[in-house]
Amino acid sequence: MQTSSTSENLAALVEGLNFSQKVDRSLALIREAYEEYGDGLVVANSLGKDSVAVWHLVKRVSPDIRGFIVTTRFKPAETVVFMNQEVARYPELRVFRSSAAIPDDLYASEPDRCCEVLKVEPTRQAIEEMKVDCWVTGLRCTEGRTRTDYREVEQRDKGLIKLNPILLWYEREVWQYLALNGVSVNPLYGVGYRSLGCAPCTRITSDQNERAGRWVGTSKCGGECGIHTRSLKANGGVLVNS
Ligand code: SF4
Repeated sequence: MQTSSTSENLAALVEGLNFSQKVDRSLALIREAYEEYGDGLVVANSLGKDSVAVWHLVKRVSPDIRGFIVTTRFKPAETVVFMNQEVARYPELRVFRSSAAIPDDLYASEPDRCCEVLKVEPTRQAIEEMKVDCWVTGLRCTEGRTRTDYREVEQRDKGLIKLNPILLWYEREVWQYLALNGVSVNPLYGVGYRSLGCAPCTRITSDQNERAGRWVGTSKCGGECGIHTRSLKANGGVLVNS
C-alpha cells in the first residue's frame, strides 16, 4: 500500500470534506488495506471513542478483522468492565498486558518509562505475536499538539504499515458516527472525560485541547504514551521517515 504523500494538505481535507465523505474515505482506506494485508491487518483498540469508531468501521469491511487491546494495571474500573464486555462480544480482540515489576509510583516519577513498560512493550508483543503487517489506529490530527504530524498511511517502522483511517475526522464527527450507528462507549465519557487513559494520569478538564487531561502536571501533559512515537518492531526495529 502506498504511503500518503507528505505534501497533502491535511487541514484542507479536514475542513473541506463533509462527514459522509470522511466515512466513505475511511472505509475505502480500510478496504484497500484489507485487500492487501488480509489477516495481517490488525486494529489497535484502545477502547476510547476513536478506537470503537474504527472498530465499527473495520467490522463493516469484514467481521474477520482482528484487534488487540493493551491494558495496564492502572486502568479505571469502568474501562476494565467495558473491555471485558467488548472482548466477550468480539473474541477476535486479544488483550495484552505487562506484568513487569516496576515501582508502584513510577507513573509519577518517570511517566515515559512507565508508559514504555506498560504500553509500548505490550504493543510490540502484540504486533509480533499477531504477525501484524499493517496496524490500524484511531489517531486523529485534530486531537492536539502532538497529533498534527501524521498521515493516513504511514511507515514509521520498517516492515510495518500504519493506517490511520479517521485521521481527518473532527471529535464531533466521531460522536456523530457513534450516535448514528448506536455504538457503545466507555461510560467515563458520560462523566466528562474526553480522552481516556490510566487512572492516575487522566483528568477531566475544561480545556479546549482534547488531550489536555492526559498527564496533567508533568512534562508529558497532553502528550503521548509512546506507541505512536517509538519503534514498534521487537528486537530493534528501525524508525523510518513517513
Ligand atoms: S498512562 Fe500513566 S500509569 Fe499508564 S502507563 Fe503511562 S505513565 Fe503509567
